[in-house]
Amino acid sequence: MSHSGDPKQRTPQAILRDVMSLCADCDTCRTMMEEDCAFFIELYRLWDQEQEEKKPITEAQLRYLAELCTLCGLCPCPKIPMDVMEAKSRYIEQEGMPFATRMLNDVPRMARLCGTFPRLLKILQSNSVLGPLLRKVMRIHPDRELPSFPKENFFQWAEQKGLNRRPEGSPRVTYFAGCTAGYLFPEVARGAVEILLHNGIPVHVPPQQCCGMPFLVEGDRERTLELAGANLKQLLQAAHAGDDLVYSCPTCGFFLKRLLRERAYYSDAYQQSVDAAEGELKVPAPEKGENQFWILKKNMYHRTLQDDGFFSSIEPMDRILLSDRLMDFGFYLTRLHAVGRLATDFVPLPERMVYFAPCHLREQKMGRPYLDLMKLIPELQIDPVGGEYDCCGMGGVFGYKEHFHQKSLDLGGPLMTKIRARNPQAIVTDCISCRLQFNHCLPYPVFHPLEILARAYGCESTARPHEPSRAD
Ligand code: SF4
Ligand code: SF4
Repeated sequence: MSHSGDPKQRTPQAILRDVMSLCADCDTCRTMMEEDCAFFIELYRLWDQEQEEKKPITEAQLRYLAELCTLCGLCPCPKIPMDVMEAKSRYIEQEGMPFATRMLNDVPRMARLCGTFPRLLKILQSNSVLGPLLRKVMRIHPDRELPSFPKENFFQWAEQKGLNRRPEGSPRVTYFAGCTAGYLFPEVARGAVEILLHNGIPVHVPPQQCCGMPFLVEGDRERTLELAGANLKQLLQAAHAGDDLVYSCPTCGFFLKRLLRERAYYSDAYQQSVDAAEGELKVPAPEKGENQFWILKKNMYHRTLQDDGFFSSIEPMDRILLSDRLMDFGFYLTRLHAVGRLATDFVPLPERMVYFAPCHLREQKMGRPYLDLMKLIPELQIDPVGGEYDCCGMGGVFGYKEHFHQKSLDLGGPLMTKIRARNPQAIVTDCISCRLQFNHCLPYPVFHPLEILARAYGCESTARPHEPSRAD
């Protein structure tokens, strides 16, 4: 086991061996994550095998282990999955990115391709000879039905409406839609815009790229940093112009608000900005209250607490500013409601639904704002479903992959059982990856909370929903 040496020179195998030793010594996640994380199940299986049966862990087994972490964020130590991402990126630097992985994760590119060659999707879905062949090339499991791409994506709609130009007015919102609402389910993003306009809030949709999360999870460091840098520039421009910044995809939020700022607080720039004394390291302690810090002795922690993580090449104060200014859409609406500025002219929706708060929202530790908002809709019976560690198992697009498909269904099994027991008329969740998994596993329609709120406002977007699980 090698904890020493220049961290930038460590091999992916050394990083993963360190992760294994740390988690085996600690052992907390052996029982805590035994039903919820394929990575920990495999980690402890390999570890026990090596210790008890003296069978050394092979390089191929380590490589496969890294593949099993989808960066869902459920485990207690953020360092562990980020170390796994570091290992994955070093593998990719050595091996290159497989074409199939690059394609499957690049939603804008897939949208363009399927828009240009609509027959490609039809073949993938229905042709009995070419379909399996294409799926094989793209390593998509044969049982997975691919979502269709609508003819008009959200960004084209937004441009037609002139939302790509910053409007006058205050408060004003800059909206980050993300790829899945942008290209796969544009009714969600249109609903977001209509809700804001219904509340008299002007909206700006700036040029935006994929948040970068799918590329981070696959270990594509170069593309992740390129996308993060481009989005950061656009969003900070909007922040400096005084806009409120909101996102409707919890995975984009988890990436842009939580992961990007990882370790930025240890930077010299941040330490100077909070007037840390000589020999001190000040680390924000929100658990103690607003503007509170943990004060650490530099001579004890300075070697380990440095801004040397995955995103350290991006200006730390920019990463912190973005994190501070960016808000979950539901959180933003509850804030408006708290100051009496949210329109509550909802029409009754006499339906029985369940709401699932996805992992990446839970990990942002802001409660369940959409649940509180939907409770304002007359006659809607909306109940939470799923516990602290319940996960749909999809892991972004991992559930589509041949080797992860069954694991994905196994991980999501307990949550599906809980939902079936409620037999709801519809499922509501803000994660579109969860939505795709629910579409695959359950017979109930699935909506984003923004679609429900837009419907209760009588907005136009909900009048022409796009059916996601059928090829156009
Ligand atoms: S992730 Fe953290 S809590 Fe879980 S086993 Fe590893 S070190 Fe322990
Ligand atoms: S981030 Fe999720 S998948 Fe990765 S180790 Fe933690 S719990 Fe497992």
